[in-house]
Amino acid sequence: MSAQRVDAIVIGSGQGGVPFAADLARAGKRVVLFERGRLGGSCINYGCTPSKAFLAAAHTAARARHGGPLGVRGDARVDFAAVMRRVRDVRDSFMDGVAKRLRSAGVRVIAAQASFGGERVVVGGGESLEAPLIVIDTGTSALVPPVPGLDGTGYLTNATFFDLVDLPASMIVMGGGYIGLELGQGLARCGADVHVVDPNPRVLSREEDDATQVLERALRADGMTLHLGCKAVEVSQRDGIFALRLDDGSELRSQALLVATGRRPNTEALSAGASGIELDSRGYVKIDERFATSCAGVYAIGDVAGQPAFTHVSWEDYRRLTAILAGEPRTRDDRVLAYSTFTEPQVARVGLTLEEAKKKGLRARAVTMPLEEVARAIEWGQEDGFFRLVVDDATEKIVGATLVGYETAELVHVILAHMEAGSTWHVLERSVHIHPTYAEGLPSLARKILQT
Ligand SMILES: Cc1cc2nc3c(=O)[nH]c(=O)nc-3n(C[C@H](O)[C@H](O)[C@H](O)COP(=O)(O)OP(=O)(O)OC[C@H]3O[C@@H](n4cnc5c(N)ncnc54)[C@H](O)[C@@H]3O)c2cc1C
Repeated sequence: MSAQRVDAIVIGSGQGGVPFAADLARAGKRVVLFERGRLGGSCINYGCTPSKAFLAAAHTAARARHGGPLGVRGDARVDFAAVMRRVRDVRDSFMDGVAKRLRSAGVRVIAAQASFGGERVVVGGGESLEAPLIVIDTGTSALVPPVPGLDGTGYLTNATFFDLVDLPASMIVMGGGYIGLELGQGLARCGADVHVVDPNPRVLSREEDDATQVLERALRADGMTLHLGCKAVEVSQRDGIFALRLDDGSELRSQALLVATGRRPNTEALSAGASGIELDSRGYVKIDERFATSCAGVYAIGDVAGQPAFTHVSWEDYRRLTAILAGEPRTRDDRVLAYSTFTEPQVARVGLTLEEAKKKGLRARAVTMPLEEVARAIEWGQEDGFFRLVVDDATEKIVGATLVGYETAELVHVILAHMEAGSTWHVLERSVHIHPTYAEGLPSLARKILQT
């Protein structure tokens, strides 16, 4: 079959691929986008969108239940079927939005799995296409560990969790990372008995120790049981009940099992080698600082390129790649990265921790303010948490922050903006923030540097 020539091919309708394809098509190029699953990728269908719509319900229920210290008593009954119906409605409306966007831009969508059939030749859906510009944006999928007995059971992953209709009475979560904790806390707050199993001695093992301690207290207060430093060694399922044997000899039983033990790149079906595209030892597409793969004209963006796995990174990759292709001197590295775990409390991060800054050779120091010192937190009864700022003594610039508390994913953008602007901590210190807000704590936090 001889390949039909087009101007550009995008493989995967992830967060960067869709706007990239739409922009090119709007500029009059013949663009083809391959998608083997639901349009919009993980974020919209199996990730950010459904998880945050789900957490909106779960957190609302918990806020009502946790009102005791404020003098508010009552129980919140969760209509789980209605919660999940809304989650799927939101998800579907976002997916429809992506379909409309691609259609109105004039992108030709082929609903099929794509693979390389030669140098810059892509085959899929019975078609063979060739283009001088190809972008791989195929993302990642849940990594299922090789635990004996797990295969073939009806375990859940992030790809199937949002199809739940009935609330399971109990759920074991394998994995104490952000996906397992968000979905686990959400289900616990809807009324399930949730157990989290993780081989690390603490949850969110990449975050600072005191940040995870705050979170662990909150998860336990929601009735969750954390089995930390434990590995699952065997799984079985009988009469609809999962049994998980742990390496400490104990056994857990539950109605549902969620596997959230990491991600793997969606490259197994790509036959990347057919186009001379190199993968790293874990299967991620190797790229240089300008998103270029080892095959001229082929680029990779988002999770599949081993980038920090966040939607805003994939989207920003699209903007940077667009600029690079237009001849601008951008790279993928010069960005201030922030992210958050959307549990309650939230653990929001931007830039470097103190330890990371020191490892980079910076003469850095950190100041920390417990939320007990923030008026708004006391008024709202949300004092368990803290704000931490990391500064570089040589330049006096802010190089990072960790904010643990109520809705800190919003608040962290104050710090992000200062870092992006390159301002020193003095600018934050002399800013007059509104009283009484959580944000008001940030200039006070910077003021602590004067005392160190
Ligand atoms: C439960 C969960 C919650 C999350 N929450 C957040 C959050 O709150 N904030 C945040 O920033 N990030 C979050 N993420 C991460 C975020 O979803 C990803 O980082 C983001 O979706 C990555 O986008 P991407 O462009 O790399 O690819 P994806 O969005 O993964 O899209 C890749 C697409 O490529 C398709 N594809 C794969 N292989 C092929 C092929 N061979 N041919 C054709 N199509 C193919 C896939 O079907 C998929 O649709 C979450 C993830 C999960 C799982």
